[in-house]
Amino acid sequence: MSTADAASADSGTTGFGTAKPLLRTESLAVTYADGTRALQPISCSFASGDFVVLLGSSGAGKSTLLRSLNGLVQPSQGRVLVSGLGDIADRRVLRAHRRRTGMVFQQHHLIGRRSVLDNVLLGRLGHHSAWATWVPWSRTEKEMALAAIDRVGLIDHALRRADQLSGGQQQRVGMARALVQAPQLLLADEPVASLDPATAERLLAQMHEICKTDGLTAIVSLHQVDFARQFADRIVGLAGGAVVFDGAPAALGEDAVLRLYGSHGTQGTDETPDSHHTHPGAGMPSATQAINLERAAA
Ligand code: ADP
Ligand code: MG
Repeated sequence: MSTADAASADSGTTGFGTAKPLLRTESLAVTYADGTRALQPISCSFASGDFVVLLGSSGAGKSTLLRSLNGLVQPSQGRVLVSGLGDIADRRVLRAHRRRTGMVFQQHHLIGRRSVLDNVLLGRLGHHSAWATWVPWSRTEKEMALAAIDRVGLIDHALRRADQLSGGQQQRVGMARALVQAPQLLLADEPVASLDPATAERLLAQMHEICKTDGLTAIVSLHQVDFARQFADRIVGLAGGAVVFDGAPAALGEDAVLRLYGSHGTQGTDETPDSHHTHPGAGMPSATQAINLERAAA
């Protein structure tokens, strides 16, 4: 499905601009098999070391964009270029890119019956060949896994079954599993969507701190404006599959929030019932109301 050369592709090199981007998209668009246009053509670069929040309501295209950045979704137009590697449409580039990319998901994707340590070790799989996965883990790998578990504050739980942990702890296991790959890039898709606000804030603070300490580039999708403002170096706001805001948190005003969550921001095909309350004009909700509606829907 992927069109190797997008309509607007330039010279075809990976020549990046001045800001040392780690990766960038070039006219990246995604239309799913059923005809849903999930992403409009997006050209966007992600600078090395930045903590970027993809902000938008349900159906805005956040997951599609994040998954495209790791080759889990095929572009129907355009491409994803990784600095120093090239176009991820190339299998070898994609393999190398995935090895240095850690992913954290909304659902933890943990194996409940296995220990925290085992689950974190699974993060090393990308570094093994398919057959090597039958070989026992090396001592070094176990030490790396334990170091990652310690880092997220779960060392006392390393040998417990994953399903005996709280939601917040499970998400930290997910974080440790991403870290054990020693990634350069962290992609996190709504990592706190299923957590209560206090736990969510602690998890984001920890994720942010680790990314800054290690110099990781992070692209994290969220639907909560206040968390985006609190943690992002840069916010990329999506609505209806298009970028409707791109800038520093301080520049995200009430108008931009309305573009994300107001009547203009609900163009996705999976409109939530709440979006019907956001009538334009007289009934226009305040940004805060819009955010609360969005939270209720999440
Ligand atoms: P978000 O993560 O911001 O909620 P998504 O990227 O999941 O947004 O979805 C963007 C749009 O694409 C939505 O309209 C959604 O219903 C649709 N969509 C997502 N995944 C698929 C799929 N596999 N097939 C068809 N449509 C999809
Ligand atoms: Mg999503």
